[in-house]
Amino acid sequence: MNTFEPRLPSPLQELRDERLAERGVRLWLKREDLIHPDIPGNKYRKMKYNLDAARTRNVKTLLTFGGAYSNHLRATAAAGAIFGFDTVGIVRGEEHLPLNDSLQFCVDHGMLLQYMDRDMYRRKVEKAVLDPLRERFCDPFVLPEGGSNDLAVAGCAEIVPEFDLDFDYVCCPVGTGGTLAGLAASLCGKQRAIGFSALKGGGFLNEDVIVLQRAAFGYATDNWHIELDYHFGGFAKRTASLDEFIATFWRRHGIVLDWVYVAKMVAGLFAMIERGSFDDCTIVCLITG
Ligand SMILES: *Cc1c(COP(=O)(O)O)cnc(C)c1O
Repeated sequence: MNTFEPRLPSPLQELRDERLAERGVRLWLKREDLIHPDIPGNKYRKMKYNLDAARTRNVKTLLTFGGAYSNHLRATAAAGAIFGFDTVGIVRGEEHLPLNDSLQFCVDHGMLLQYMDRDMYRRKVEKAVLDPLRERFCDPFVLPEGGSNDLAVAGCAEIVPEFDLDFDYVCCPVGTGGTLAGLAASLCGKQRAIGFSALKGGGFLNEDVIVLQRAAFGYATDNWHIELDYHFGGFAKRTASLDEFIATFWRRHGIVLDWVYVAKMVAGLFAMIERGSFDDCTIVCLITG
């Protein structure tokens, strides 16, 4: 069962690009996407202590929530298959057949999918919704949507200590803010963390990051902010300019950027660098998936 061998520490690579050199910027990519093929990037970091807790509690089943394209659902299904838990995925909205690749992956890894209408899904953290699920699935270990809780944030605080490098800024994409919350809490001195929201109207994420930091550490830090303008149309939406950025990046660097999260961050960061927001400094970007 347990042949899980995550690639840790994840590789750190310098990216050489004249768009950066012109501004005196050194940019490093922290390749979290290479940690494991089925539990990549920040999903591994977020799952690590949750899996420990599930084992300690001796539960049989992990239960979690996500949309039809959720990377978190996929990672939970894979983790269940690797570590010997049953998994239940509560999917927002109705069933659409045939399943998309992401949900098919979940089923292939043994996840039981249950669909929940959008109205009820919005109330999924309420007792009235959660208690019947707990009862039906025999008191499972419940992971929140996107996997962000105090234990997930603690896992994400282990990324920066792996850098063997002086840097000024660390950047990550933001879905629920768990990754940013952990990153920021692990910085020193004047270092800052910048999140790039993959969602339109992501202003609420500021409060969510504060809540997550308090849950994990008992305090919130003020060494981070979230860029809200690089969502390229909204969550899981894309534009021609984003596609062009991804194609150019692939041609120059041979790396295919994940378009839901990572490409939006890198495109946003390059736009800011070209505008002169980061002259003469060192930046590390998390390639989260
Ligand atoms: C889930 C995911 C994120 C979002 O992380 P949060 O901690 O929810 O903000 C970012 N990038 C990738 C590739 C992801 O799969």
